[in-house]
Amino acid sequence: MVPIGGVDKARELLVKTLAYGDCKKAVQQLFSKIAEDTGFPASHTDALDLFDAMRSQTGGGGILVDLIPSQLNDHLPEAGRIKQQPQGGGGLSSFFYVSDQRQRWSAVWLQGAYSDSPKYAFDRLPFLYALNLIHELAHNAPSDASALGRVYEHEEMDAAARELGSSSFDQYIREHCIPREYW
Ligand SMILES: [Zn+2]
Repeated sequence: MVPIGGVDKARELLVKTLAYGDCKKAVQQLFSKIAEDTGFPASHTDALDLFDAMRSQTGGGGILVDLIPSQLNDHLPEAGRIKQQPQGGGGLSSFFYVSDQRQRWSAVWLQGAYSDSPKYAFDRLPFLYALNLIHELAHNAPSDASALGRVYEHEEMDAAARELGSSSFDQYIREHCIPREYW
């Protein structure tokens, strides 16, 4: 397994990714499109602003990296623990309430490659982490101004990406934020 190296490193990775090509603007457009289509405003359309806002929550949750699915509950306060063992994929996002305050969390699962994998398998991990991080942030982009707590769902994320000319949310992020050789 090859960890990101903590939340500071995850932020650095996000900054670097958003600086690639038109990534920053493209992500803003995609988050805005999801908000527009769902009719449910986003708290932030800038992925880095959202990352920082989630990270500065005081009731737990926030950005969780370098963990495997079975470790998730160890990183969530009692109120936020999930009952079902999360499945694979790139990560998971949800929210919970502490003293009526909504606390969001986005987890990005630890990834790796086998020791006999081609070098490419290791070289692409940072890009995979960047993709998974932006994906998980998108789930938690809905505004908390409303009493109704919600995430953006996969169908909503994918539909917005298709309207912007791609085939899915993840593919849109690859097209704008990740060099072709690491897709
Ligand atoms: Zn997802």
